[in-house]
Amino acid sequence: MRLETLAIHAAHAPDPGTGALAPPIVLSTTFERDPDGSYPRGHHYARNGNPGRDSLEGAIAALESGAGAVALASGSAASAAVFSLLAPDDHVLVGEDCYYGTLKQLAGPFARIGIRHDRVNMTRLESVAELIQPRTRLLWVESPSNPLLAIADLAGLARLAHAHGAWLACDNTFATPVLQRPFALGADLVVHSTTKYIGGHSDVVGGVVVVGEPGDILERLKVHQSVLGAVPSGFDCWLLRRSLATLPLRVRQQSENALAIARAFAGHRQLAALYYPGLESHPGHALARAQMSAFGAMLSLRVKGGEAAAFAVAARTRLFTRATSLGGVESLIEHRASVEGPTSRTPRDLLRLSIGLEHAEDLIADLGQALDSVSP
Ligand SMILES: *Cc1c(COP(=O)(O)O)cnc(C)c1O
Repeated sequence: MRLETLAIHAAHAPDPGTGALAPPIVLSTTFERDPDGSYPRGHHYARNGNPGRDSLEGAIAALESGAGAVALASGSAASAAVFSLLAPDDHVLVGEDCYYGTLKQLAGPFARIGIRHDRVNMTRLESVAELIQPRTRLLWVESPSNPLLAIADLAGLARLAHAHGAWLACDNTFATPVLQRPFALGADLVVHSTTKYIGGHSDVVGGVVVVGEPGDILERLKVHQSVLGAVPSGFDCWLLRRSLATLPLRVRQQSENALAIARAFAGHRQLAALYYPGLESHPGHALARAQMSAFGAMLSLRVKGGEAAAFAVAARTRLFTRATSLGGVESLIEHRASVEGPTSRTPRDLLRLSIGLEHAEDLIADLGQALDSVSP
């Protein structure tokens, strides 16, 4: 089945008891056992598993063409689950442009238990190769990256990782399985903040780790999920499963809108730079074209005049809401460096835009008037 069909049918069998097409939200924390003590209906305690979570995990694994998935309470819980597969003195190479919370996990709690890491420009395979050590167990990459929208060669990174006995984990939050299939390019693990496109409506926080092959890693992640317990609620799973049906449509339209906006503002006199992999001028464009089916709905702008001018632009948009996060149906604008805090390396003049499902022309008009009202 193709992605659109899977998105509708992978987690959508009528409820066997009632025939209901929309599955019930199972809120029960506990499940009845048979007189002999067994649980023939598959569940006994909701932290260990429940029907809504099972169907969500099955559907996301199917969309990514993975062997299995574990749903967690946030994208951060998902990255932490992957890092928890490592042992003291193991080494991680992580993209230097990367979700700042992932970097904080490596620099804080995981560094304290002896997991070492280096940041590297993931778009340069030779730089990655130079930094690989005998104890490098994991390459962690985002492509497109956050917030600079750099494109990394996932197949090349997978070859490098495997030549050194390491895993490639891809945070596929920005691309979603609709635009990029990391397992087909050799990744071992795929991670999503389902808070973003998979949820898609800015009303649920969640995360998932998908595993490419059945076996030990999947089993260890399942133990991590139930023993460490950062699990999503039955209602969260229900919302996420429901959102999957429209994921392909939303992501394609949002990408189309983003491409129209990038084309409209490339070279705009108020902009010092515009980062969007769908533009031919983007250094990763050819690679993005080869490994993605469209270029995603995130773009970043650098405003002439520095931080004050960037804030002024964000203050003047009417359709773009000033808020962090991404992937929802509504367009958002944020001054990324101030969200990331004092350790941020993000340029101070950068605004990150998450393009929603409004009409592209309305978004272009809104951003245009905001930019025009600020002089460099
Ligand atoms: C938001 C985000 C995360 C973290 O997810 P949460 O659900 O906020 O914990 C990780 N990676 C990327 C690329 C993100 O955008």
